[in-house]
Amino acid sequence: MTAVGREHQRPLVDDWRARAACRGMADVFFPPGATAGSAARDVCQGCEVKVECREWAILTVTADEVEAGTVFAGVSARTIKRWRAQRFGTQVRPIDHGSYAGYEAHRRRGEAPCGECREAYNAYNRAANARRRMAS
Ligand code: SF4
Ligand SMILES: [Zn+2]
Repeated sequence: MTAVGREHQRPLVDDWRARAACRGMADVFFPPGATAGSAARDVCQGCEVKVECREWAILTVTADEVEAGTVFAGVSARTIKRWRAQRFGTQVRPIDHGSYAGYEAHRRRGEAPCGECREAYNAYNRAANARRRMAS
């Protein structure tokens, strides 16, 4: 994580983003191109607007952010997305990540499958191809 010094748009006086611990760290806060990981989580740890950030993220999280592994309020965008589904009743069934069915569920939702699901999907196809080769 690097602080690139790019200021966000000047916020309103009462905008919680003005008090964000990650303010100015363009690669942590408000993606695109956000990076994830423990560094981002550390920044969130002592942030005084964590609750506001979490609520905002639940309302706005995108599939791209899930794919990028973006961190909001100390948790992954994937977790945020799950909370969103729980709260709003859509996509009630959580994706079984790391499975063939998970891969298909990602696709049905119009999002890029996560790495684990892609791996499971590829492994499934490899096994299927091997079976076909053995049968012929
Ligand atoms: S909780 Fe984390 S991501 Fe949210 S504003 Fe604070 S530092 Fe930024
Ligand atoms: Zn997945």
